Amino acid sequence: MVKKLYPFGKAKAFNVTYDDGILQDVRFVELLNKYNLKGTFNLNSGLMENEFEWTHESGVVVKRLPKEKVLSLYKGHEIASHTLTHTYFQDKSEAEIMTELSEDKKNLEKLFNREIKGFAVPFDYYDDLIEYCTKKCGFEYARISEETLSFKPQTDYHRWKATVFHLDVALENLAKDFISTDEELALFQIVGHSYDLDTENMWDEIESIFKEISSQSDILPMTTIEIIDYLKAMEQVEFTNSHIKNYSEKALWFLVNGNVCEIDPECKIALGK
Ligand SMILES: [Zn+2]
Repeated sequence: MVKKLYPFGKAKAFNVTYDDGILQDVRFVELLNKYNLKGTFNLNSGLMENEFEWTHESGVVVKRLPKEKVLSLYKGHEIASHTLTHTYFQDKSEAEIMTELSEDKKNLEKLFNREIKGFAVPFDYYDDLIEYCTKKCGFEYARISEETLSFKPQTDYHRWKATVFHLDVALENLAKDFISTDEELALFQIVGHSYDLDTENMWDEIESIFKEISSQSDILPMTTIEIIDYLKAMEQVEFTNSHIKNYSEKALWFLVNGNVCEIDPECKIALGK
């Protein structure tokens, strides 16, 4: 019997993907770092210059982090694009969409000195033209606003859904179910903005989820791009009755008859008795 595993032989993966690059991310990243978890932060490079801010109806001030702050804060986490100016895409032309995507990608690549491979759509509008533009810009994945509410990894990387929005009433039960699930390549990914943790007074709840997840030895914290690159590599595996062959450029892990096996790129293992 063969079961696919995540890197280092871990059965499950965990990620948080948080939007907008705001002041409350300082506390949020501290929490991730405390529990050795990995986040993906989706930033608008065009809103970092002018100290853009607004006041939530609860009175909580939501303020964008300036350029000088983001570089050190998000160290060790993934940075992805969230458009240049957090634009609403409905009725925008291809040229306007391309500018919002490519300018943000270019600015973030310059600022962080690395390739920006991921994109998260602002607001909840997404259509075929936007999907086409994310591919044309070279993004490896595009996260949309819908939830999966399941642990099943997806195959449509340009309509990628996180598991659950952090204000969804399903959050707590999903977190519990994730600890006990034995689904193959189970993935739990929480999406949100950290100012909600202030407005909804949710810091303790999110910390208890992080604490529980980080205490499980079979869960690997990963960024979104690490998860997607790994799932793409898994698609390049040949399974026969006699062997498993890894045609990808990554080492891949499997549980074979109860034993954890690592298969290097271009290598195969025989399935003996
Ligand atoms: Zn946003």
